[in-house]
Amino acid sequence: MPQSPSSEVRKKLETLRNRFRDKTVREIEGLVASIFNASRHPEAIEELTAAYQLLHRLAGSAGTLGYTQLGEQARKLEIAIRPLADQIASGADKEHLRLQLAQLLDAGCDEQVTGLGNLLITAEPVSTEWHRPRPAEAENQSVLLILESDQELAELISQGLALYGYQLRNLSNGEQWPDNMDDVDLVMVRDTLLQGEGADWLHKLHSLPVICFSDAHDFATRYRLACLGVDACLDEPQDIPALADRIEHLLAEGLATLTGRVMIVDDDSELLEHYRVVLTSGGLEVRTLADPSRLLSELSEFRPDILLMDVQMGRYDGPAMARMLRFQAEWLSLPIIFFSSEEDRNLQLDVLARGGDDFVTKPVSDEFLLRTARIRCYRARQLGKLVSLDSLTGLLKHALAKIELNREYARCSRTGHDSVVAMLDLDHFKQVNDSHGHGTGDMVIKALANLLRHRLRNTDIIGRYGGEEFVVVLPECSLEKAVEVFETLSQDFAQLVFSGCKEEFSVSFSAGVATLNAYESGEQAIDAADKALYQRKRAGRNGVTVALRDVR
Ligand code: GH3
Ligand code: MG
Ligand code: MG
Repeated sequence: MPQSPSSEVRKKLETLRNRFRDKTVREIEGLVASIFNASRHPEAIEELTAAYQLLHRLAGSAGTLGYTQLGEQARKLEIAIRPLADQIASGADKEHLRLQLAQLLDAGCDEQVTGLGNLLITAEPVSTEWHRPRPAEAENQSVLLILESDQELAELISQGLALYGYQLRNLSNGEQWPDNMDDVDLVMVRDTLLQGEGADWLHKLHSLPVICFSDAHDFATRYRLACLGVDACLDEPQDIPALADRIEHLLAEGLATLTGRVMIVDDDSELLEHYRVVLTSGGLEVRTLADPSRLLSELSEFRPDILLMDVQMGRYDGPAMARMLRFQAEWLSLPIIFFSSEEDRNLQLDVLARGGDDFVTKPVSDEFLLRTARIRCYRARQLGKLVSLDSLTGLLKHALAKIELNREYARCSRTGHDSVVAMLDLDHFKQVNDSHGHGTGDMVIKALANLLRHRLRNTDIIGRYGGEEFVVVLPECSLEKAVEVFETLSQDFAQLVFSGCKEEFSVSFSAGVATLNAYESGEQAIDAADKALYQRKRAGRNGVTVALRDVR
């Protein structure tokens, strides 16, 4: 029988726990022997340093690996022994230290030390409650569920959204609340259906994005919807472009919060592996590193969104590593989050001042680790996007679109495949602004952006080239296919109905296409597509024209 993803994760975590236990049993035996030895022989007092380091490590890791009591006990002993470890480091008299240690043990610490091993007998059961497998990323086919009491409206919305490439599931009012929502990506529901049973049902959806159709604007209703977990409220769902825009945002955000690249540096191998299993099973890409001296080369290769790092890693100091990274401009904005078992706020502030961004206190729970890492990755990428993506449409900005286009030009020159570049421009757009206002004009621009993003492949490059002009690169695509794609898109776009201030209206676009690799440079291919676009404008707009050199 195939295993569920959760039970696979559980098995991996259990294996790690056992490995940790077997190793730690031996380590604790050594630790007990060292402590008692040091309490009897002044010349053995330095053994206490290693014992102290082990207690510190266990205090930070045992809890995460299921041995909470062991972690807590190790923390207590660590704190008790710390003054002695500090004095050893500063070269204090050995006999004096031995005496202090003996007194400490006599005062009751001896039982705590000898009892450490017993705390390894039972681990807490592995919980995979936090584990929700990431939804498979079905290319361009998100499933939307509509629950709307007005069937005519539901039908209208379904048809409109189908043009954007969504798959619609329309449940009429009287039907049962669906139980199995595994393949649904987003829910749209009429507010009046969210009473009683409907409200309970909504509560069970957890992380699914929910758009509520509601024309109530009063505080009480809106507050109630927010409490129910609704993500967006629209009073005119028949405005399909506006609705599609909200859907697009919610879906993109949902996926974005589940992805990310994390690099973890820690010298504790079981802990490192445990973190890796947890984060990987939550859909993040993870690179672990036990040897901090390889940090720079691994970073350049892996390019993570965030870096998680232990404060103390054998002979390497985490905050010093962070400071060293900041020597390079390239890593100035990389968020660095430290694992720290130090509760000392002052020390943490000190670390922050030296180039870290935040702390996660050890021992860290699986759920907390995953949530922190996801949120951090998401934020880091959002910041990166501010720089490279156009704020209105979320498409590539002009400069970046050109960089990507040139990259594809180089690629197709090298491999010999055909790629196509297209320039698109909205028709009579000045009139749209003049008649319906700039805000409505923006909505039209966004609608075209969403349509392109949705209907083109994930590997296609889409940029906002200027105000109402777009550039698209279709890698590994024939010119015939590209013409077909843009013909269909232009027909579908022209069918979208926008609501203006006085009346409804539609807009069309014109496109010029050229084979990217038929020209001397990416720049020349853009020029050719642009000329074809203006030929189309002269020939009556709303359609596609092929660049002169490509016409055979
Ligand atoms: P044509 O069919 O020949 O392309 O006609 P057009 O009216 O679209 O031509 P033109 O390029 O002269 O006008 C583009 C207009 O787009 C002018 C500008 O005010 C408007 N525009 C540019 N950027 C934006 C924007 O971000 N938002 C809005 N609402 N309008 C914009
Ligand atoms: Mg125009
Ligand atoms: Mg223009």
